[in-house]
Amino acid sequence: LGEDNVNEDPLRRAQLSLGQSYGDQLARRSGRIARLCDAVVVPADQDAVVALVELAQTHGLRLTPVSGATNVVGAIDGAGVDAKPWIVVDLSSLNAIRNISERDLAASVEAGVMLAELERRLGERSLTLGHFPQSFARASLGGSIMANGAGQASDGYGRMSDMLIAAKLATPRGLWRTERFRHAAAGPWLGGLVAGSEGLFGILVEADIRVTHAPEIVEDRAFALPSFAAGLEAMRALAQSGVGLSMKRLSDERETDFYGQLRLRRKGLDAPPQFERVAARLLRVPPRPALLIASYEGPRARLRTTFSEAHRILAHAGAIGLGAAPGRSWRRDRFTAPIWREGLLAHGAGVETFETAARWSELPALHATVTTAISNAIAETAGAHGVVFAHVSHSYPEGASLYFTALFPQSDDPVGQWRLIKKRAADAIVAAGGTVSHHHGLGADHAPWAQAEKGGLGLSALRALKGAFDPQGVMATGAELAL
Ligand SMILES: Cc1cc2nc3c(=O)[nH]c(=O)nc-3n(C[C@H](O)[C@H](O)[C@H](O)COP(=O)(O)OP(=O)(O)OC[C@H]3O[C@@H](n4cnc5c(N)ncnc54)[C@H](O)[C@@H]3O)c2cc1C
Repeated sequence: LGEDNVNEDPLRRAQLSLGQSYGDQLARRSGRIARLCDAVVVPADQDAVVALVELAQTHGLRLTPVSGATNVVGAIDGAGVDAKPWIVVDLSSLNAIRNISERDLAASVEAGVMLAELERRLGERSLTLGHFPQSFARASLGGSIMANGAGQASDGYGRMSDMLIAAKLATPRGLWRTERFRHAAAGPWLGGLVAGSEGLFGILVEADIRVTHAPEIVEDRAFALPSFAAGLEAMRALAQSGVGLSMKRLSDERETDFYGQLRLRRKGLDAPPQFERVAARLLRVPPRPALLIASYEGPRARLRTTFSEAHRILAHAGAIGLGAAPGRSWRRDRFTAPIWREGLLAHGAGVETFETAARWSELPALHATVTTAISNAIAETAGAHGVVFAHVSHSYPEGASLYFTALFPQSDDPVGQWRLIKKRAADAIVAAGGTVSHHHGLGADHAPWAQAEKGGLGLSALRALKGAFDPQGVMATGAELAL
């Protein structure tokens, strides 16, 4: 592997022994990290990854592949690794982008390529992947595929499992290439096992991905809905009508109010300025609106027809158009939330997010019961209800994802507090028919709910697959706690 590629420096080991979950943040801040990996290995190329996996198999090492380390589900989990030597495999040297084909709208990309670099390189050819998670600046392509992430514009571009064409993995049983062409009826598509597998079966070294022509125009428009309930109906109508919007994001009344207040405080104001109040009265903006931001990305020629169809559907739900300004400020700040989360933690305030997805008919009740469950758990641990709000994003004809944010005073036992709030939230989500994760992944944090999600037979099939690719359990990832 080369001596220079094996790093035993304690700081580097500490940096890569954790991800970015709330539990990881608490461990990092307190210095109480359950277990440090024994070394960070940086394989120089794909052959070195294959050699490392063979070495691990022979010598009984445990390997955790890491790219951006931005996962928020305890996917890098030292506590779950047994007593064997634990190596974190830093894939940053797998950074080649090959065969960008305008003709096939496809590219071959090594797993360690960062999303921002990939977009930059595709942009030089007027192409885009269209995957823009909030963690865009720090996440990699490999990690995004392995977590089956969904970017903010997934309504238009799809999520990682839609973008993956073929994958190449170094597994403990040898190199595995999935089918070259995914749209086939020659048995089930095995490439589908790769997206969302979180390193259970082996190390992804390269992927063929679908790319798209970069949009000629990107435009955001905002709307005020009379209530979250009315907004949900509008979102459903939009998702089921096939209107070509790349993003639809609906905040509930509390989230709308929270970000409205934040905007004013940033400007040093306690209340909206006079002209805004008059404009709101003239436009008849409802007293407790739910804000919807809709984005279009595509050819200029389709912009007008897309928005006029969207306007028609939204007007039917009682929406009032607010113009482009709220969308512009959302776009400006859309990757910056991690910064204020870290700042709040430093001041003793907890910030945690919970995301799920469910069918349209289940979403209203899910929204209500999960909000109450989180709020009650906060009250139980902190003596105050904190602030809990949510938004809908990533919508489909049958349902949509729901993303909750909770802000709360930290208790004397922040780890115990977090575990209780997390458990109450996940229990309520599952009881209301939601998935325990729409796009963050399973990891150690969601592993206890895998049985409810997959069922006993489904989990035993996953165990069998793990056994087929990795019989000695070389691959160490938080998600294995589910098996
Ligand atoms: C502030 C913030 C906002 C976020 N917003 C979003 C969002 O909008 N949408 C979204 O989908 N996610 C979001 N995430 C979650 C996270 O960024 C994604 O899951 C991201 O895709 C992970 O990529 P990564 O390169 O950081 O992967 P890592 O954290 O390094 O790894 C993720 C998992 O994949 C495994 N893995 C990584 N690389 C490989 C490989 N080459 N082979 C095999 N296994 C591998 C790891 O072992 C781990 O289990 C957010 C995270 C943060 C901190």
